[in-house]
This record gives sequence, C-alpha cells and structure tokens, in this order.
Amino acid sequence: MTNKWEDNIRKVTPYVPGEQPQGTGIIKLNTNENPYPPSPGVYETFQELDVTRFALYPDPSATELVRGLETYYGLEEGQVFVGVGSDDVLSLAFLTFFNSDKPILFPDVTYSFYPVWADVYRIPYECPALDEDFRIRAEDYKKENGGIVIANPNAPTSLGMKRSELEEIIRSNPDVIVIIDEAYVDFGGETVLPLLDTYENLLVVRTYSKSRSLAGMRIGFAMGNRRLIQAMTDVKESINSYTMTTASIRIGAASLRDEDYFQERLKQVVATRKWTKAELEKRGFEVLDSRTNFLFAKKPGVSGQEIFEKLRREKIFVRHFNGERIKDYLRITVGTDEQMISLFDALDKIL
Ligand SMILES: *Cc1c(COP(=O)(O)O)cnc(C)c1O
Repeated sequence: MTNKWEDNIRKVTPYVPGEQPQGTGIIKLNTNENPYPPSPGVYETFQELDVTRFALYPDPSATELVRGLETYYGLEEGQVFVGVGSDDVLSLAFLTFFNSDKPILFPDVTYSFYPVWADVYRIPYECPALDEDFRIRAEDYKKENGGIVIANPNAPTSLGMKRSELEEIIRSNPDVIVIIDEAYVDFGGETVLPLLDTYENLLVVRTYSKSRSLAGMRIGFAMGNRRLIQAMTDVKESINSYTMTTASIRIGAASLRDEDYFQERLKQVVATRKWTKAELEKRGFEVLDSRTNFLFAKKPGVSGQEIFEKLRREKIFVRHFNGERIKDYLRITVGTDEQMISLFDALDKIL
C-alpha cells in the first residue's frame, strides 16, 4: 500500500562511501585516507582545546581557519569558503552555482558523488566520455552547458590533467562556473590556483581529508573571487550558520603551520606510490600514472571483483566500482610501506 504523503518525499539514490570496517588486523586501502597521523601541531592544539568553550556557538565565519588559508595560499580576504569536508563545500557549490536549465558537464568516469548532488538538487547533467586512455578531452567541454565540474587529478582514474588544458576549458566557458575539485592535487597534480586572478568563473575546491591526514575532522574549502565566495556564504547562511565546529576551526588552522611535516609526509606517500606501482607491475598489473595517493590498477584476465573479494578475505580492503568501463580495475590507496608489503604478500597468495 502506498500512502499519499509518499508523493511529497524527495526520493534519491544516495552516494555509497567506502566501507569503514571495524575490528583488528585490518588493512584499509579503500577510502584514500592518509596512513600517517596528523601533524604535531594538531595534537598540541587538540590537547589545548578549552572544553568549557564548547558551551558556546563557534565563530560562524571560522575566521582563524579562513585567514590561515588565505595567508597560506597568498589570497586576499574574502577568497576562501570553508565547509564540513569538501563534500559539503562541493554540494553547496552545486546548489549555489548550477541553477541553469542547461545540463552541467562532468566526465562519465569521475567522483561518483557528482551525479548524486545533481539528482538531489534536480540539476540536469551530461557526462562526456573519457577517451580510451581514461583522459579528459578539453574539446568535450566546449558545448553549451549550465556549469562544469572536473576533479583534477581525477578519481578513480588517478590521472592528472595539465593546467593549460583546464585553462582551455575555463576560458571557453566564461558564462558558467567551472569547479575544479583538487582533492588530490597535493600528491603531484598541477593546480589551477594561479588562474584565479585571470578567470572570475573559476572555483577551486580542496580538502583536509587526504593530504592533511584529517578525514575525521571534516574540513574542506573553496577558493575563488570574492563574489563567488560571497554567493556561497549567502546560501550557506540560508541553511546553517554554524557548519564548522570550534575544534575543526582551531585544528584546521594548526595543520597549516606545520609545513615541513606536511611536505615530508607527501614525499613519503609519493615514494611509496612509485614503489607500489612497480611491485604491482611485476605481478602483471596494469597501473595508471597516478598523481594521487591511490593507484588504479587491473590484472588482465582476472576480474576486479574477484581480487577485491579475495583481498577482503585477507582483511585487506581496497575499492572496486561496478561501472561498465572500470569494473576490471581496483582503486588501491597508498598506505605505509608495511601495509603495501602485506598487500603484495596477499596478492602472491591469492593470485
Ligand atoms: C575524497 C574526495 C572528496 C571529499 O572529501 P571530503 O572528505 O568530503 O573532504 C571530494 N572529491 C574527491 C574527488 C574526493 O576523492
């Protein structure tokens, strides 16, 4: 029996995040978290948090964090927007900027949250296909559209796009907002940040979840010209004034002050990535050229699903997607060297 009120419910098919398995002895390489702990300054700041202060609302403008980011990236006041992870920031950017009857554009293989936000906000969309090498073709983004979102480097392919190619897309679309999701750029991508001064239709989105080892704190941010940031702020303040907690504001600002630690850990992840790619290739895998903290790999002749399930039995969690073009592949987060050795041992056992 269906009730009349059901017609009034907004029906959506939600995004499915990677599993967060509980238990011991698990090696978690399925959600691209950083295997290293947050910086020493984050620990100190956490310890110094005044719990009494939690009785009060946080600073609705998250000033300490926003100023910290503006200084860190050499931006002017009013060019940074912060949110509860970049998922929150991206979702709000969709709501704020994609208000056209024309379809927004994003690749057929990319972050699988994009179509979910488009659906929940009733935004029409089209998905130009990546080429056979899983590359984004700039030409595909030169047709009429209501906005564009591109992850660079792209997920789950791990491939990076040149700044000049992205500039071509941004330049060809002066009448819509182009969002570049740089969730992984710290691991070796080419950022479009230098283009912010030239293109007022560009919004760059970043996260603390991967490169800054703070997925659990939920901190993301967007950078753009003042008018874009103001528009997002107006929409945010029409929904929820206090998105950032007192803890996330202070900890996010602290992380920015430990630059040496940050650079060292990035270097370590990149070194482990290079070595892991070579080790996977030795075992017959084809591995794409990663600019991220994960590898996108397949073993010809063995299904992605099969390796995924066998690794799972060994308590090693990687990510497998069922999409037609990528079902042979596994997305493997770059962990510590020890975690990677366990992965290789498991692969040698099951394959
Ligand atoms: C992980 C990820 C995000 C979201 O990260 P948050 O944890 O919400 O900051 C956004 N875009 C891409 C491409 C990602 O991989």
